[in-house]
Amino acid sequence: MSTEPTKIILSEDEMPRQWYNIQADLPTPMPPPVGLDGTPIGPDALAQVFPMNLIEQEVSTERWIDIPDEVLGILKLWRPSPLYRARRLEAALGTPAKIYYKNEGVSPAGSHKPNTAVAQAWYNREFGIKYLTTETGAGQWGSALAMSCKLIGIECKVFMVRISFDQKPFRKIMMKTWGAECYPSPSMETAIGRKMLEEDPDTPGSLAIAISEAIEQAVERDDTRYALGSVLNHVMLHQTIIGLEARKQFEKIGRYPDIVIGCAGGGSNFAGISFPFICDKIHGKEVKVIATEPEACPTLTRGPYVYDSGDVAKMTPLLPMHSLGHRFIPPAIHAGGLRYHGMAPLVSHVKRIGLIEATALPQTECYEAALLFAHTEGFIPAPETSHAIAQTIREAKQAKEEGKEKVILMNWSGHGLMDLQGYDAYMSGKISDYALPEEMLQRSLASLEGHPEPPGL
Ligand SMILES: *Cc1c(COP(=O)(O)O)cnc(C)c1O
Repeated sequence: MSTEPTKIILSEDEMPRQWYNIQADLPTPMPPPVGLDGTPIGPDALAQVFPMNLIEQEVSTERWIDIPDEVLGILKLWRPSPLYRARRLEAALGTPAKIYYKNEGVSPAGSHKPNTAVAQAWYNREFGIKYLTTETGAGQWGSALAMSCKLIGIECKVFMVRISFDQKPFRKIMMKTWGAECYPSPSMETAIGRKMLEEDPDTPGSLAIAISEAIEQAVERDDTRYALGSVLNHVMLHQTIIGLEARKQFEKIGRYPDIVIGCAGGGSNFAGISFPFICDKIHGKEVKVIATEPEACPTLTRGPYVYDSGDVAKMTPLLPMHSLGHRFIPPAIHAGGLRYHGMAPLVSHVKRIGLIEATALPQTECYEAALLFAHTEGFIPAPETSHAIAQTIREAKQAKEEGKEKVILMNWSGHGLMDLQGYDAYMSGKISDYALPEEMLQRSLASLEGHPEPPGL
């Protein structure tokens, strides 16, 4: 029996004090955000939507950015998060691979999202902001921001994608418990919401619509700004605490991963676990990095690299990213957090320049993987997380075929205790695979017409 512990724990003193900014190390720079006419957008254009201190982070190329003490103090309520060795999963698979998972499900909201929510609430309060608006899909982000605003001492208003609002009452109650207001989106609260309801009163909603509603309300008031839970550079930055901790944890046991895996919706938990390792890769280390997404929402694997807006009303600048088109209405798969039409510009960029790979997985394989995980390691993963688990299992099986002792690290982005309807549906045979039909993709991509093209490499 090995003496290596089941969970590798850092003390609070060993927590990273700075975030890692991959923009400092990119071998080729990322194209800038632009307006509809193709001219680059300056920081001022974002000032009505975000506080200037976060806009500064968004465009910063400093390699290390200090984590404010108060933010660090709040993160210590659950961080450093444990890195687990999944020995029982390894045994069930009969693989020589060593599987590690970074458990981000230990946060009060149950996922990695509070890592950036706390930071964003803090920077907004420091800038004098009293209200934050946001959107939420499955409710993970809305609940993370609701909690963070309460801990930091500002108000929070959440537009929740209607289908999730109806399907996931418990996340709604969590937001309310942490003192936030929560509306189903599209709502009658905003002009864009009323317009979308007029077009289709039965619309399930989408993140892109909810974002438009939240931004509309943020720009209307001086003391209000908007917070986005993924996609943007500063969100990727705040999440790097995951990978920085993981790198230290691997140092403790004298190992280094051969493969790093994260599921990708907007890209933040994937960026969080992987960017510190991609930094090593840029500097010569050999490590394979894989982002996994659902076949139903295949942004990185089938979406073209384009300039697209982050929301349906085109209130955001055009971002250089892999996108399925901002009018994309995703199919109602259970991994609600993986249904966004775009992928973080930074994640899209590292894919484009060959630093990472991407795969798209069918839903049933992911649920099967989630059940195997729950049966061996105990924890019930979020449906989003199950995509990372399924890819990890694929890699572990391949390591077995090749007879190689690969070290695999996956980000266990959150628990699934608020997503049990999905498990119920799977276990009663109601979930089938659904790859996005090509003609639906093409129809959605038509919304990109007239957008400028990103420059070539
Ligand atoms: C929101 C969420 C995701 C997807 O968002 P990213 O920005 O891609 O990380 C993945 N897993 C969980 C548990 C989530 O809540």
